[in-house]
Amino acid sequence: MTTDTAAQAAYVVAALLFILSLAGLSQHKTSRSGVVWGIAGMVVALAATVGLASRSITASGLVLIVVATALGAGIGLWRARVVEMTGMPELIAIMHSLVGLAAAFVGWNGYLDVDAELSGSLLGIHHAEVFIGVFIGAVTFTGSVVAYLKLSARINSRPLTLPGKHVLNIGALVAFVGLTVAFVVRPGMGLLIAVTVIALALGAHLVASIGGGDMPVVVSMLNSYSGWAAAASGFLLANNLLIVTGALVGSSGAYLSYIMCKAMNRSFISVIAGGFGTPAAAADDDEHGEHREINAEETAELLRDATSVIITPGYGMAVAQAQYPVAELARKLRDRGVEVRFGIHPVAGRLPGHMNVLLAEANVPYDIVLEMDEINDDFAATSVVLVIGANDTVNPAATDNPSSPIAGMPVLHVWEAANVIVFKRSMAAGYAGVQNPLFFRENTQMLFGDARQRVEDILRGLDSLDTPVREMAGTTR
Ligand code: NDP
Repeated sequence: MTTDTAAQAAYVVAALLFILSLAGLSQHKTSRSGVVWGIAGMVVALAATVGLASRSITASGLVLIVVATALGAGIGLWRARVVEMTGMPELIAIMHSLVGLAAAFVGWNGYLDVDAELSGSLLGIHHAEVFIGVFIGAVTFTGSVVAYLKLSARINSRPLTLPGKHVLNIGALVAFVGLTVAFVVRPGMGLLIAVTVIALALGAHLVASIGGGDMPVVVSMLNSYSGWAAAASGFLLANNLLIVTGALVGSSGAYLSYIMCKAMNRSFISVIAGGFGTPAAAADDDEHGEHREINAEETAELLRDATSVIITPGYGMAVAQAQYPVAELARKLRDRGVEVRFGIHPVAGRLPGHMNVLLAEANVPYDIVLEMDEINDDFAATSVVLVIGANDTVNPAATDNPSSPIAGMPVLHVWEAANVIVFKRSMAAGYAGVQNPLFFRENTQMLFGDARQRVEDILRGLDSLDTPVREMAGTTR
């Protein structure tokens, strides 16, 4: 068997392993094995690619491959080990940016180093591949960098609203089509530089135009773009595995974006077109009135008298790592006969399933953790809701205010409960940058401070409330 045949056979095996990996990742139970299939597929793919390259490689080329692999693997291992779960989306975004950058470089290389055997229509196709690869790669690169900056709060997550932004986006796409035709007819470096600059600007603008509340969709959309960028590189490098893998990532990312758009009541086209049709952000200087505050002891008293409690966690619970005392609080209240349940919003936190993972980590029983649709009708019959570090996902403006940037997004109807206690450190807005009228409702009280510390204070408060009760019970018996 020649090296080439062996490598192609290995590519088929790797592609199958990637498909198994996707299938495994689609379910909680099988997700670990999904990751293992994925790692195995990548090892096979890397070995086959290096094997193929080694047929015609110089010693310095081999050294470069070894150094690049060691560097990449080292950085990857280090980042994966140190990343906090709350930092996962930004890590994913920055990795997508590298895929985009690599695709743009492969495209440029395809222009600078044309295979001498290509001629006629094959050469035309090659030039179209170069142009499309550079375009998708550059859009993915800057789009992902802006997503990284927004997700890591290095820039504001509010949507950028340049005048005529849709005209700018459509203009860039029309220019891309025109330049592609020109490049196929008469290739030249000037055209390639022009499309690179246009694509870089378009990627940045598309993602900058999207509001914070839609960022989960953007992350999965950029995942999809990075897949198509890799597929484009596969065509240029005549690498079948890259084409298959790119198409798998591209289509699964697109489907995930579609599902997330449906869950959040967003138009898919609107989000991929950079917030096309998004209502103008409402001014946040509305008069909301005064908020009321409560302390941990008073909250403990309220909980002692409650018959039913729903806890709605959000990003702040993850930041404070409050899941352990929260689980303890749930256990204590249940021991006292209080009905306790958790209400989980599909985009609470910073990655899909974020809250479920944290609660499972703290051993909260799975049967009291309910999805938004399963619990939303029960708030009206609930004594106390504890909103622990959640903000956008419990914002009534999404249902009440059609001009709000998050209008139409389904949210947890916490305000329907008799009492709402909001745990946060200040009156600051949530990730979408939208003020939350919940904080000013008559049945809402703010419990300021780090969520972990406040829940621990409540636990102590409950204990001290218990002591006299037990003592009294002892004396009356
Ligand atoms: P938000 O991000 O809207 O709000 C979190 C709140 O937690 C803030 O108001 C903050 O207020 C508070 N907080 C932060 N740290 C602490 C702390 N140590 N103790 C107590 N409170 C704290 O949270 P949600 O979970 O409600 O919403 C998630 C948002 O993130 C949505 O807009 C969603 O679209 C977006 N998103 C979701 C992704 C996903 O896949 N799930 C991915 C990317 C974005 P303060 O600073 O005053 O304490």
